[in-house]
Amino acid sequence: MPVVFVGHGSPMNAVRQNAFTHHLQQWGETLPRPKAILSISAHWLTPGLTAVDVQERPRTIHDFGGFPPELYAMRYPAPGAPEIANAAAARVKQAKVISTSDWGLDHGTWTVLHHMFPRADVPVFQLSIDYDKPGAYHLLIGRELAGLRDQGVLILGSGNIVHNLRATDRETPDSSAASRPWAGAFDAAVVKALAGRDDKALANYSTLDASAAQAVPTPDHYFPLLYSLGAAGAAESARSVFEGFQAGTLSMRCLQFG
Ligand code: ZN
Repeated sequence: MPVVFVGHGSPMNAVRQNAFTHHLQQWGETLPRPKAILSISAHWLTPGLTAVDVQERPRTIHDFGGFPPELYAMRYPAPGAPEIANAAAARVKQAKVISTSDWGLDHGTWTVLHHMFPRADVPVFQLSIDYDKPGAYHLLIGRELAGLRDQGVLILGSGNIVHNLRATDRETPDSSAASRPWAGAFDAAVVKALAGRDDKALANYSTLDASAAQAVPTPDHYFPLLYSLGAAGAAESARSVFEGFQAGTLSMRCLQFG
């Protein structure tokens, strides 16, 4: 099973039809049908611990504010995968992964899967991000989870390579180029490091490029990339399935390994 990383951007992508969402739809049709999907989303941060959600029927979480009612009315009714979730937890040696029924599917997961797997018939479960830990730690957990691919599990990191909410401009139309040089520069630096599979440099994102402080002011949306990267085999190159910017500076780049 391949490994993917999705730049998810605004929750509004769930109800929009644009180049990004069209690519998600086509992508979902070309991927082999997974037995289950493990999502590591930028929106489930648990400082000090790593958790896995083991609900049979994960709830759709509307973890955002100030959006139109149609977005709050949306549900993604995919079943959970408690057995596979517990097996995934057992693979992680870096941390004792705590099983919980307190989460579900946040918008980093369901706004993307709504387009990729619109029938919501593939079981989905989420693993949280220990937000106290550095990049190398997340990369290692990704490596520990890689064996799930042989069990037919699609590992999905969902974040954004460049994500600075203070520097987004909702009025800027979707574009292939960033509206600010630092956003384009960091996105390009990640592409270059991926091409050489310089995983160490990617884990140490803050020194990857001079643009890092502006492009990744906080690593919540960057860390999911490290899970996907870790789960990819050392010889597997990253293919950009989609690239471009929304709101001027949000990199929507989506990647597939394998
Ligand atoms: Zn987000």
